[in-house]
Amino acid sequence: NKSIVSQYEKPECLQSSLKTENRLLVSGGATNPYQRSFEALSLPMMGMMDDRAIKILSDIQEGIRYVLQTKNEYTLAYHGTGTTGMSGVLDNMIEPGDKVLVGVMGYWGDKVAKIAQRFGANVARMEKPPGSRFYLTDIEAELQTHAPTILFLISGESSTGVYQPLEGIGELCNKYNCISIIDVVATVGQQPIKMDENKIDVIYFNTQKGCGGIAGLSPVSYSPRAMSKFRKRQTLPRIYQTDIKEQADAWFITMPKDSPHKAWRHSFSISLLYSLREVLARIVEEGIEKVWERHADIDQYFQSRAEKLGLEHFVPKPEDRLIGTTMFKVPTGKDGYKIESYIAEKFKIDVSPGLFVNMGKVLRVGLFGSNANLEVATSVIQALECALNSTQTDL
Ligand code: PMP
Repeated sequence: NKSIVSQYEKPECLQSSLKTENRLLVSGGATNPYQRSFEALSLPMMGMMDDRAIKILSDIQEGIRYVLQTKNEYTLAYHGTGTTGMSGVLDNMIEPGDKVLVGVMGYWGDKVAKIAQRFGANVARMEKPPGSRFYLTDIEAELQTHAPTILFLISGESSTGVYQPLEGIGELCNKYNCISIIDVVATVGQQPIKMDENKIDVIYFNTQKGCGGIAGLSPVSYSPRAMSKFRKRQTLPRIYQTDIKEQADAWFITMPKDSPHKAWRHSFSISLLYSLREVLARIVEEGIEKVWERHADIDQYFQSRAEKLGLEHFVPKPEDRLIGTTMFKVPTGKDGYKIESYIAEKFKIDVSPGLFVNMGKVLRVGLFGSNANLEVATSVIQALECALNSTQTDL
Protein backbone atom coordinates (compact mmCIF):
# COMPACT_ATOMS: atom_id res chain seq x y z
CA ASN A 1 0.00 0.00 0.00
CA LYS A 2 1.75 3.14 -1.31
CA SER A 3 0.05 5.50 1.11
CA ILE A 4 1.80 4.01 4.15
CA VAL A 5 5.30 4.19 2.69
CA SER A 6 7.36 7.09 4.07
CA GLN A 7 8.73 9.27 1.31
CA TYR A 8 11.69 10.32 3.39
CA GLU A 9 14.52 8.49 5.16
CA LYS A 10 14.54 8.27 8.97
CA PRO A 11 16.65 11.18 10.29
CA GLU A 12 20.07 9.75 11.18
CA CYS A 13 20.37 12.06 14.19
CA LEU A 14 17.34 10.49 15.87
CA GLN A 15 18.48 6.89 15.65
CA SER A 16 20.21 6.83 19.02
CA SER A 17 19.15 7.75 22.55
CA LEU A 18 19.89 11.16 23.96
CA LYS A 19 22.88 11.35 26.28
CA THR A 20 23.63 14.30 28.55
CA GLU A 21 26.13 14.87 31.35
CA ASN A 22 25.85 16.56 34.72
CA ARG A 23 26.79 20.19 34.64
CA LEU A 24 26.68 22.85 37.29
CA LEU A 25 24.38 25.52 35.85
CA VAL A 26 25.46 28.82 37.39
CA SER A 27 25.32 31.14 34.37
CA GLY A 28 22.49 33.18 35.88
CA GLY A 29 20.02 31.49 33.51
CA ALA A 30 18.25 28.23 34.37
CA THR A 31 19.66 26.65 37.52
CA ASN A 32 19.96 22.96 38.39
CA PRO A 33 16.50 22.15 39.76
CA TYR A 34 15.82 20.94 43.26
CA GLN A 35 15.74 17.13 43.18
CA ARG A 36 12.14 17.17 44.38
CA SER A 37 11.01 19.30 41.46
CA PHE A 38 13.00 17.24 38.95
CA GLU A 39 11.73 13.88 40.22
CA ALA A 40 8.14 15.11 40.11
CA LEU A 41 8.37 15.08 36.30
CA SER A 42 8.30 11.30 36.32
CA LEU A 43 5.36 10.81 38.68
CA PRO A 44 2.42 8.84 37.17
CA MET A 45 0.21 10.99 34.97
CA MET A 46 -3.42 11.91 35.68
CA GLY A 47 -6.15 13.55 33.65
CA MET A 48 -6.88 17.25 34.12
CA MET A 49 -10.53 16.56 34.97
CA ASP A 50 -9.40 14.52 37.97
CA ASP A 51 -10.21 16.15 41.33
CA ARG A 52 -6.60 15.56 42.36
CA ALA A 53 -5.35 17.54 39.35
CA ILE A 54 -7.70 20.39 40.24
CA LYS A 55 -6.29 20.31 43.76
CA ILE A 56 -2.76 20.66 42.31
CA LEU A 57 -3.85 23.87 40.57
CA SER A 58 -5.05 25.24 43.87
CA ASP A 59 -1.84 24.15 45.68
CA ILE A 60 0.18 26.01 43.04
CA GLN A 61 -1.91 29.16 43.44
CA GLU A 62 -1.34 29.06 47.21
CA GLY A 63 2.40 28.53 46.67
CA ILE A 64 2.73 31.44 44.24
CA ARG A 65 0.83 33.69 46.66
CA TYR A 66 3.19 32.70 49.48
CA VAL A 67 6.34 33.26 47.41
CA LEU A 68 5.09 36.68 46.24
CA GLN A 69 3.56 37.49 49.67
CA THR A 70 0.16 38.33 48.25
CA LYS A 71 -3.47 37.43 48.74
CA ASN A 72 -4.43 38.20 45.12
CA GLU A 73 -7.19 35.93 43.91
CA TYR A 74 -6.07 36.19 40.28
CA THR A 75 -2.89 34.20 40.74
CA LEU A 76 -2.01 31.31 38.43
CA ALA A 77 0.65 30.07 36.00
CA TYR A 78 0.66 30.45 32.22
CA HIS A 79 2.15 27.69 30.11
CA GLY A 80 5.40 28.98 28.63
CA THR A 81 8.55 30.54 30.04
CA GLY A 82 8.92 33.99 31.62
CA THR A 83 8.60 35.62 28.19
CA THR A 84 5.06 34.27 27.96
CA GLY A 85 4.25 35.92 31.29
CA MET A 86 5.86 39.16 30.12
CA SER A 87 3.87 39.34 26.92
CA GLY A 88 0.70 37.98 28.58
CA VAL A 89 0.53 40.59 31.33
CA LEU A 90 1.25 43.39 28.84
CA ASP A 91 -1.51 42.11 26.56
CA ASN A 92 -4.01 41.99 29.44
CA MET A 93 -3.18 45.42 30.80
CA ILE A 94 -2.65 47.39 27.57
CA GLU A 95 -5.51 48.72 25.52
CA PRO A 96 -4.44 50.23 22.20
CA GLY A 97 -3.41 53.85 22.77
CA ASP A 98 -2.56 53.37 26.47
CA LYS A 99 0.47 55.32 27.58
CA VAL A 100 3.03 52.91 29.06
CA LEU A 101 6.13 54.18 30.87
CA VAL A 102 8.89 51.56 30.72
CA GLY A 103 12.06 51.66 32.81
CA VAL A 104 14.92 50.59 30.53
CA MET A 105 18.23 49.84 32.23
CA GLY A 106 19.29 46.86 30.11
CA TYR A 107 18.09 44.23 27.67
CA TRP A 108 14.85 43.21 29.40
CA GLY A 109 13.44 46.69 29.79
CA ASP A 110 14.17 47.30 26.12
CA LYS A 111 12.38 44.08 25.19
CA VAL A 112 9.33 45.07 27.26
CA ALA A 113 9.17 48.48 25.54
CA LYS A 114 9.14 46.72 22.15
CA ILE A 115 6.51 44.15 23.15
CA ALA A 116 4.28 46.90 24.58
CA GLN A 117 4.40 48.64 21.18
CA ARG A 118 3.18 45.45 19.50
CA PHE A 119 0.07 45.62 21.68
CA GLY A 120 -0.62 49.15 20.49
CA ALA A 121 0.77 51.03 23.50
CA ASN A 122 2.10 54.54 23.25
CA VAL A 123 5.45 53.80 24.91
CA ALA A 124 7.56 56.30 26.83
CA ARG A 125 11.02 55.00 27.75
CA MET A 126 12.91 56.21 30.81
CA GLU A 127 16.50 55.07 30.59
CA LYS A 128 19.49 54.43 32.82
CA PRO A 129 22.93 53.32 31.64
CA PRO A 130 23.88 49.64 32.24
CA GLY A 131 24.90 49.13 35.86
CA SER A 132 22.55 51.69 37.41
CA ARG A 133 18.87 51.83 38.43
CA PHE A 134 16.00 54.27 38.99
CA TYR A 135 15.34 56.25 42.16
CA LEU A 136 11.84 57.18 43.31
CA THR A 137 12.51 60.83 42.42
CA ASP A 138 13.40 59.85 38.80
CA ILE A 139 10.25 57.77 38.55
CA GLU A 140 7.99 60.42 40.04
CA ALA A 141 9.33 63.06 37.60
CA GLU A 142 8.60 60.74 34.63
CA LEU A 143 5.13 59.92 35.95
CA GLN A 144 4.40 63.64 36.12
CA THR A 145 5.72 64.24 32.59
CA HIS A 146 4.02 61.31 30.85
CA ALA A 147 0.93 60.59 32.97
CA PRO A 148 0.97 56.92 31.88
CA THR A 149 -1.76 54.36 32.59
CA ILE A 150 0.93 51.73 33.23
CA LEU A 151 4.40 51.83 34.79
CA PHE A 152 6.64 48.86 33.98
CA LEU A 153 9.85 48.07 35.89
CA ILE A 154 12.27 45.16 35.98
CA SER A 155 13.13 44.38 39.62
CA GLY A 156 16.21 42.37 38.58
CA GLU A 157 17.80 43.43 35.28
CA SER A 158 19.70 40.19 34.77
CA SER A 159 21.56 41.53 31.72
CA THR A 160 23.41 44.05 33.92
CA GLY A 161 23.12 42.50 37.42
CA VAL A 162 21.12 45.45 38.76
CA TYR A 163 18.48 45.35 41.49
CA GLN A 164 15.57 47.79 41.31
CA PRO A 165 13.96 48.08 44.78
CA LEU A 166 10.15 47.93 44.89
CA GLU A 167 9.54 49.97 48.03
CA GLY A 168 7.48 53.06 47.29
CA ILE A 169 6.68 52.13 43.66
CA GLY A 170 3.09 51.05 44.38
CA GLU A 171 2.40 54.21 46.36
CA LEU A 172 3.65 56.37 43.50
CA CYS A 173 1.43 54.46 41.07
CA ASN A 174 -1.58 54.97 43.32
CA LYS A 175 -0.76 58.68 43.56
CA TYR A 176 -0.47 59.06 39.78
CA ASN A 177 -3.34 56.70 39.05
CA CYS A 178 -1.51 54.08 37.04
CA ILE A 179 -0.98 50.32 37.22
CA SER A 180 2.44 48.93 38.21
CA ILE A 181 3.75 45.86 36.38
CA ILE A 182 6.95 44.34 37.72
CA ASP A 183 9.18 41.59 36.26
CA VAL A 184 10.54 39.58 39.20
CA VAL A 185 12.14 36.84 37.07
CA ALA A 186 15.61 37.54 38.46
CA THR A 187 14.62 38.34 42.04
CA VAL A 188 11.85 35.94 43.07
CA GLY A 189 13.03 33.38 45.61
CA GLN A 190 16.31 35.28 45.92
CA GLN A 191 15.14 38.36 47.74
CA PRO A 192 11.85 39.59 49.22
CA ILE A 193 9.15 40.71 46.77
CA LYS A 194 6.25 41.52 49.17
CA MET A 195 3.72 42.24 46.46
CA ASP A 196 0.87 43.35 48.77
CA GLU A 197 3.00 45.39 51.15
CA ASN A 198 4.58 47.21 48.19
CA LYS A 199 1.18 47.63 46.53
CA ILE A 200 2.32 46.16 43.21
CA ASP A 201 -0.48 45.45 40.72
CA VAL A 202 0.92 42.82 38.36
CA ILE A 203 3.88 40.47 38.66
CA TYR A 204 5.22 37.60 36.56
CA PHE A 205 8.24 35.33 36.79
CA ASN A 206 9.53 32.00 35.55
CA THR A 207 10.19 28.73 37.29
CA GLN A 208 13.80 27.88 36.37
CA LYS A 209 15.71 30.59 38.24
CA GLY A 210 15.34 31.65 41.89
CA CYS A 211 12.49 29.20 42.49
CA GLY A 212 14.74 26.31 41.51
CA GLY A 213 12.33 24.50 39.21
CA ILE A 214 12.08 23.46 35.56
CA ALA A 215 11.34 25.92 32.74
CA GLY A 216 7.91 25.80 31.14
CA LEU A 217 5.45 27.68 33.35
CA SER A 218 5.19 31.38 34.10
CA PRO A 219 3.46 32.33 37.36
CA VAL A 220 1.51 35.60 37.35
CA SER A 221 -0.49 37.54 39.89
CA TYR A 222 -2.96 40.41 39.29
CA SER A 223 -4.17 42.75 42.06
CA PRO A 224 -7.83 43.82 42.38
CA ARG A 225 -6.79 47.21 40.87
CA ALA A 226 -5.27 45.45 37.86
CA MET A 227 -8.39 43.30 37.44
CA SER A 228 -10.57 46.39 37.62
CA LYS A 229 -8.55 47.93 34.73
CA PHE A 230 -8.93 44.64 32.87
CA ARG A 231 -12.70 44.58 33.34
CA LYS A 232 -13.05 48.07 31.88
CA ARG A 233 -11.41 47.03 28.58
CA GLN A 234 -13.26 47.94 25.40
CA THR A 235 -11.23 45.41 23.39
CA LEU A 236 -10.22 41.81 24.02
CA PRO A 237 -6.58 40.96 24.77
CA ARG A 238 -5.01 39.81 21.52
CA ILE A 239 -3.63 36.49 22.71
CA TYR A 240 -6.21 33.96 23.78
CA GLN A 241 -3.97 31.65 25.76
CA THR A 242 -2.80 34.28 28.23
CA ASP A 243 -6.13 36.12 28.50
CA ILE A 244 -6.53 36.37 32.27
CA LYS A 245 -10.28 35.87 32.09
CA GLU A 246 -9.93 32.63 30.12
CA GLN A 247 -7.13 31.42 32.40
CA ALA A 248 -9.08 32.35 35.53
CA ASP A 249 -11.81 30.00 34.27
CA ALA A 250 -9.29 27.28 33.48
CA TRP A 251 -7.72 27.62 36.96
CA PHE A 252 -11.16 27.56 38.67
CA ILE A 253 -10.91 31.10 39.99
CA THR A 254 -14.10 32.11 38.21
CA MET A 255 -15.45 28.62 37.51
CA PRO A 256 -16.78 26.29 40.24
CA LYS A 257 -14.49 23.33 40.90
CA ASP A 258 -17.28 20.88 40.03
CA SER A 259 -17.50 22.09 36.43
CA PRO A 260 -14.21 20.93 34.91
CA HIS A 261 -15.71 20.52 31.40
CA LYS A 262 -16.82 24.13 31.38
CA ALA A 263 -13.48 25.25 32.78
CA TRP A 264 -11.49 23.42 30.11
CA ARG A 265 -9.69 25.81 27.76
CA HIS A 266 -6.68 23.85 26.50
CA SER A 267 -4.40 21.02 27.62
CA PHE A 268 -2.21 21.53 30.68
CA SER A 269 1.22 19.95 31.04
CA ILE A 270 0.45 17.89 34.14
CA SER A 271 4.13 16.95 34.61
CA LEU A 272 5.18 20.60 34.68
CA LEU A 273 2.38 21.29 37.15
CA TYR A 274 3.67 18.49 39.40
CA SER A 275 7.14 19.92 39.16
CA LEU A 276 6.02 23.46 40.02
CA ARG A 277 3.88 22.20 42.89
CA GLU A 278 6.87 20.36 44.30
CA VAL A 279 9.25 23.30 43.96
CA LEU A 280 6.76 25.51 45.77
CA ALA A 281 6.35 22.83 48.44
CA ARG A 282 10.15 22.75 48.78
CA ILE A 283 10.14 26.51 49.43
CA VAL A 284 7.28 26.15 51.92
CA GLU A 285 9.20 23.38 53.70
CA GLU A 286 12.28 25.60 54.16
CA GLY A 287 10.21 28.75 54.79
CA ILE A 288 10.47 31.81 52.52
CA GLU A 289 12.45 33.89 55.08
CA LYS A 290 15.03 31.10 55.35
CA VAL A 291 15.19 30.88 51.55
CA TRP A 292 15.88 34.64 51.28
CA GLU A 293 18.43 34.41 54.11
CA ARG A 294 20.25 31.51 52.47
CA HIS A 295 20.51 33.38 49.17
CA ALA A 296 21.80 36.53 50.90
CA ASP A 297 24.40 34.57 52.94
CA ILE A 298 25.73 32.64 49.95
CA ASP A 299 25.80 35.82 47.90
CA GLN A 300 27.91 37.58 50.55
CA TYR A 301 30.27 34.63 50.87
CA PHE A 302 30.68 34.33 47.10
CA GLN A 303 31.22 38.05 46.57
CA SER A 304 33.84 38.34 49.29
CA ARG A 305 35.76 35.32 47.96
CA ALA A 306 35.54 36.64 44.39
CA GLU A 307 36.73 40.10 45.46
CA LYS A 308 39.76 38.44 47.08
CA LEU A 309 40.58 36.95 43.67
CA GLY A 310 40.79 40.52 42.40
CA LEU A 311 37.49 40.44 40.52
CA GLU A 312 35.83 43.83 40.18
CA HIS A 313 32.05 44.29 40.18
CA PHE A 314 30.27 45.52 37.05
CA VAL A 315 27.63 47.28 39.18
CA PRO A 316 29.48 50.02 41.08
CA LYS A 317 27.15 50.48 44.07
CA PRO A 318 26.81 47.47 46.43
CA GLU A 319 23.16 48.31 47.19
CA ASP A 320 22.31 48.21 43.44
CA ARG A 321 23.56 44.63 43.01
CA LEU A 322 21.23 41.69 42.62
CA ILE A 323 21.31 38.97 45.24
CA GLY A 324 22.12 35.65 43.59
CA THR A 325 23.29 37.01 40.23
CA THR A 326 26.74 38.57 40.33
CA MET A 327 28.47 40.28 37.46
CA PHE A 328 32.20 40.91 37.34
CA LYS A 329 34.22 42.83 34.80
CA VAL A 330 36.53 40.62 32.75
CA PRO A 331 40.02 41.49 34.11
CA THR A 332 42.12 43.62 31.76
CA GLY A 333 44.11 41.51 29.33
CA LYS A 334 41.82 38.46 29.73
CA ASP A 335 39.21 37.10 27.34
CA GLY A 336 35.77 36.47 28.89
CA TYR A 337 34.72 33.92 26.27
CA LYS A 338 37.87 31.91 26.78
CA ILE A 339 37.50 31.96 30.58
CA GLU A 340 33.94 30.74 30.16
CA SER A 341 34.85 27.86 27.85
CA TYR A 342 37.87 26.89 30.00
CA ILE A 343 35.64 26.61 33.09
CA ALA A 344 32.98 24.76 31.11
CA GLU A 345 35.43 22.19 29.74
CA LYS A 346 37.69 21.70 32.76
CA PHE A 347 35.10 21.91 35.56
CA LYS A 348 31.78 21.26 33.79
CA ILE A 349 30.54 24.51 35.26
CA ASP A 350 28.50 26.93 33.12
CA VAL A 351 29.12 30.59 33.88
CA SER A 352 28.10 33.29 31.40
CA PRO A 353 30.33 35.68 29.45
CA GLY A 354 27.54 38.26 29.65
CA LEU A 355 24.53 38.84 27.48
CA PHE A 356 23.37 41.51 25.10
CA VAL A 357 24.50 44.91 26.37
CA ASN A 358 27.75 43.68 27.89
CA MET A 359 28.51 40.47 26.01
CA GLY A 360 32.15 39.42 26.37
CA LYS A 361 32.86 42.21 28.86
CA VAL A 362 31.68 40.47 32.04
CA LEU A 363 31.49 37.14 33.83
CA ARG A 364 28.05 36.42 35.26
CA VAL A 365 27.47 33.87 38.02
CA GLY A 366 24.04 32.89 39.33
CA LEU A 367 23.86 31.08 42.68
CA PHE A 368 20.19 30.52 43.29
CA GLY A 369 17.61 27.82 43.98
CA SER A 370 19.37 24.52 44.70
CA ASN A 371 22.72 26.12 43.81
CA ALA A 372 22.56 28.69 46.60
CA ASN A 373 24.83 26.64 48.84
CA LEU A 374 28.41 26.75 50.15
CA GLU A 375 29.62 23.74 48.23
CA VAL A 376 28.55 25.15 44.87
CA ALA A 377 29.84 28.64 45.69
CA THR A 378 33.22 27.18 46.67
CA SER A 379 33.45 25.08 43.50
CA VAL A 380 32.75 28.14 41.35
CA ILE A 381 35.40 30.18 43.20
CA GLN A 382 37.95 27.39 42.71
CA ALA A 383 37.14 27.23 38.99
CA LEU A 384 37.39 31.01 38.62
CA GLU A 385 40.67 31.07 40.54
CA CYS A 386 42.11 28.37 38.36
CA ALA A 387 41.01 30.18 35.17
CA LEU A 388 42.35 33.54 36.34
CA ASN A 389 45.72 32.08 37.40
CA SER A 390 46.03 29.85 34.38
CA THR A 391 49.35 30.19 32.65
CA GLN A 392 47.65 29.40 29.35
CA THR A 393 48.55 32.55 27.48
CA ASP A 394 45.31 32.65 25.51
CA LEU A 395 43.08 32.93 28.63
N1 PMP B 1 12.94 38.83 32.48
C1 PMP B 1 14.18 38.71 32.97
C2 PMP B 1 14.67 39.74 33.94
C3 PMP B 1 14.99 37.64 32.59
O1 PMP B 1 16.22 37.49 33.11
C4 PMP B 1 14.49 36.68 31.68
C5 PMP B 1 15.36 35.53 31.22
N2 PMP B 1 15.39 34.48 32.11
C6 PMP B 1 13.17 36.84 31.20
C7 PMP B 1 12.43 37.93 31.62
C8 PMP B 1 12.56 35.87 30.25
O2 PMP B 1 12.30 34.65 30.88
P1 PMP B 1 12.38 33.28 30.07
O3 PMP B 1 13.79 33.13 29.60
O4 PMP B 1 11.97 32.25 31.07
O5 PMP B 1 11.43 33.38 28.93
